[in-house]
Amino acid sequence: MDEEIIDKLTEIVGKDYITMDDADLVAYATDVLPGGFKKPDYVLMPENVYQISEILKFANKKKIPVIPRGGGTSELGGCMAWEGGIILELRRMNKIKKIDADNLMAIVEPGVICQQLNKEAKKYDLVFPPTVPTESVATIGGMVASNSSGLRSAKYGATTDYVLALEVVLADGRMVRIGKAVYKTSSGYDLVHLFVGSEGTLGIITEITIKLKPIPKYFATAYGLFDNIEDCARAVNEIIKSGITPAGLEIIDLPSQKAVNQVAKKSRGKLSEVSFPEAEGLLLFEIDGHDPDQVKRDKQALQAIAKKHGCKDIIWAENDEERERMWLARKSVLVVLVQKQPTIAIGDTILPPSMMPDIIRFMQNAGKKYDMDVYIVAHSADGNVHYMIPYAETEEELGRVNALENEILNKVIEWGGSISGEHGIGHHRMRFMKSEHGESLELMRAIKQLFDPNNILCPSTIFPE
Ligand SMILES: Cc1cc2nc3c(=O)[nH]c(=O)nc-3n(C[C@H](O)[C@H](O)[C@H](O)COP(=O)(O)OP(=O)(O)OC[C@H]3O[C@@H](n4cnc5c(N)ncnc54)[C@H](O)[C@@H]3O)c2cc1C
Repeated sequence: MDEEIIDKLTEIVGKDYITMDDADLVAYATDVLPGGFKKPDYVLMPENVYQISEILKFANKKKIPVIPRGGGTSELGGCMAWEGGIILELRRMNKIKKIDADNLMAIVEPGVICQQLNKEAKKYDLVFPPTVPTESVATIGGMVASNSSGLRSAKYGATTDYVLALEVVLADGRMVRIGKAVYKTSSGYDLVHLFVGSEGTLGIITEITIKLKPIPKYFATAYGLFDNIEDCARAVNEIIKSGITPAGLEIIDLPSQKAVNQVAKKSRGKLSEVSFPEAEGLLLFEIDGHDPDQVKRDKQALQAIAKKHGCKDIIWAENDEERERMWLARKSVLVVLVQKQPTIAIGDTILPPSMMPDIIRFMQNAGKKYDMDVYIVAHSADGNVHYMIPYAETEEELGRVNALENEILNKVIEWGGSISGEHGIGHHRMRFMKSEHGESLELMRAIKQLFDPNNILCPSTIFPE
């Protein structure tokens, strides 16, 4: 270990906020990527933007990799030190600097946890809508860097739709403010949204100005039961075309429902209260709004469309507790699968919504071909279909799951879709970047070179060799 490096880093953050202890390095050697493990050399816990600037100036000079880390819930090895170096643990930077209720905005540090922000915003009847199932761990910095979205994206969009301005520290330590606390601007290049989804490869996000929304007051939430998943997908298409914009429109396949029900039965926590009704195709939908009559009208219209497409039963939540249980069941799908088998290949493919029946069928058939269980859920209004494929850690099974994943992702690219609607690329999916982006990958490389010529920020992520 180089004493000069240790002395300098210790001088910047203070001796209590640097660690090289083996136990700590092991704790930071992985995120949620199955089987991923690579120890960093140092873990630093900076307190403010000035310390981050000093760290980067020094790391850039010495060409030491720096990997920002929020909640560490990336499933793709995005916050792992693949080439060693520094993990920049940002959770000490967790201040909500301002809630501007008049303008529906908030200014936060990157380590603020999504749920923490929503708790504070609720005091003003406001919400940051792009929640993720990991909302009690995921940070706003990590969500911006990954352009996260999910359960409510049908109506409320992705994180990118809420980011107005950023403070970032560039690879050479320069602190830069980009964007403005205004709802739109036509002034110059849109650097803010270049950083959204950049997965830590262009700079460290140290402050975020985001939009908030008023919390809706009325909800109608239901399970729609279908005889097959294709009918479910067709109903979704017509719902979108009808002009109704549900806040949630989630497809859950039968194997996923069964997995949740099995684990819920044995669980002692909140999960023990949930159960899916079990149908070949299940649609969880939610309408929300500020006008009870509008919610009622949308509810009736949506029910009629679902019925037209073969929905045989609709089970409406009678109260808030039931509504929360329905959502908890949905949020638990991956959670229960991981408990059964920690090694799981996870995908979040996206195609135009009308192609959902085709890609779901393709995934199911590919699963049969490789003799692997494929679990499917979808944020269906976006056409964002997730697969989860548990596998044993044997060479033979790893080979099969890789071949199966290649087949699915190559098909998505061939059909004009994208391999990631929300989770990002990280390390695990670098290999598909060339086939998805072709020539434009070179433009991305040029941008990376401009921002980070020494490639110290999150090396071995996004860009294949
Ligand atoms: C069970 C489960 C379910 C999930 N479901 C969803 C889902 O529905 N939708 C979804 O979008 N994601 C989902 N995810 C993925 C993940 O939880 C989200 O992307 C989350 O928003 C990441 O936040 P984080 O703070 O954990 O980021 P991290 O995992 O810490 O970091 C993610 C990436 O951002 C970079 N980064 C972090 N902070 C900064 C910063 N301040 N500046 C620059 N770069 C930074 C990291 O280097 C890394 O590349 C799921 C994960 C799990 C485990």
